[in-house]
Amino acid sequence: MTATEEHRRLIVAGTGIAGLTAAIYAGRSNNDPLVLEGDEPGGQLTLTSEVENYPGFPEGISGPDLINEMKEQAEQFGAEIEHGVVESVDDSERPFRVELSNGDVYTCDAFVAASGASARTLGIPGEDDLMGYGVSTCATCDGAFFRGEDMLVVGGGDAAFEEAHFLTKFADTVYLAHRREEFRAEDYWIDKVGKKVEEGEIELLRNTELLEVHGSPEDGVDHVTLATNETGYPSEHLDDAETETYDFDVGAVFVAIGHTPNTEYLEDTGVELDDTGYIQTRGGKGGNQTATGVEGLFGAGDVVDYHYQQAVTAAGMGCKAAIDADGYLEDLDDAAAEPEAAEADD
Ligand SMILES: Cc1cc2nc3c(=O)[nH]c(=O)nc-3n(C[C@H](O)[C@H](O)[C@H](O)COP(=O)(O)OP(=O)(O)OC[C@H]3O[C@@H](n4cnc5c(N)ncnc54)[C@H](O)[C@@H]3O)c2cc1C
Repeated sequence: MTATEEHRRLIVAGTGIAGLTAAIYAGRSNNDPLVLEGDEPGGQLTLTSEVENYPGFPEGISGPDLINEMKEQAEQFGAEIEHGVVESVDDSERPFRVELSNGDVYTCDAFVAASGASARTLGIPGEDDLMGYGVSTCATCDGAFFRGEDMLVVGGGDAAFEEAHFLTKFADTVYLAHRREEFRAEDYWIDKVGKKVEEGEIELLRNTELLEVHGSPEDGVDHVTLATNETGYPSEHLDDAETETYDFDVGAVFVAIGHTPNTEYLEDTGVELDDTGYIQTRGGKGGNQTATGVEGLFGAGDVVDYHYQQAVTAAGMGCKAAIDADGYLEDLDDAAAEPEAAEADD
């Protein structure tokens, strides 16, 4: 089979909530977006069974249902959604040259990067099977489902501290397990969590690692297996006499060891990425907030926003990116029409 080579006015990378919102707006503006799904069609929301905080759904809505409705809405306005993982974008020429992992090549006048961020996970037994059934990577999203339960947060950085602090609203006790003695979190979070420790709402489990999560999709998390060793990194010393391995009862597990933004395909472009790989956009007030350092290339959703990382904020940024891209494409049209108008005047 020969590879496709085709020109599109606008390409959107990602069918998470940011990409699909961009697709709805771009479709309605007659920019005929081609929307590429990447490895995770529908994005992170497809990993959650219930979204209770997306406006407009007082009864809540399942993540996959919300995504399917948005897909339908985008297609209704002319968006074309296709399988395809962007491998690279060449911004040294215009139109942009977009290469997919299957060898297909597209050129496009404007590009919206809405490729999201993937939560890092531990890769331990039970984690995958119970993801969405008591194991979660998002306390803001899922904490309220486990009211009154004991909860375990895994991690030692700001995200873990923030999540542990947030979960005290719902949990009986929050246990924060970190594989080392020292925490990476900033003093601000260490102090805030320290107060909760004094009040008996959070318990710190230093030099402790989560080895396995036990339970079932039907009944959720039943208990976990932990390992503790005073010198840290206990999973690397399981055979040592000093390492204690034990079962521990909790009703939910929150893995908070960071996210990785999906931006490898932009590494050779002029798009500025921060130290951890998130796209830097212009931000601020007024138009073009989603513009990157490369004209015609815009960023939206969790691939830009390492802080809020919510469905509604990602959707908002997708909307902005489509409007910014539309402005850019209109300027391109005007610029192309000018020489023709001048010729007609001659
Ligand atoms: C378990 C869980 C539960 C959550 N629950 C809630 C909730 O209840 N409420 C809430 O507001 N938020 C929730 N969130 C957060 C929310 O899902 C994210 O903030 C939101 O999905 C971000 O949307 P996005 O479109 O920016 O990125 P993502 O959803 O991450 O989507 C990224 C898309 O880009 C694609 N992609 C990646 N790389 C490439 C590439 N190279 N080429 C083409 N495409 C690519 C992926 O395949 C995917 O389609 C939850 C998150 C998780 C993990």
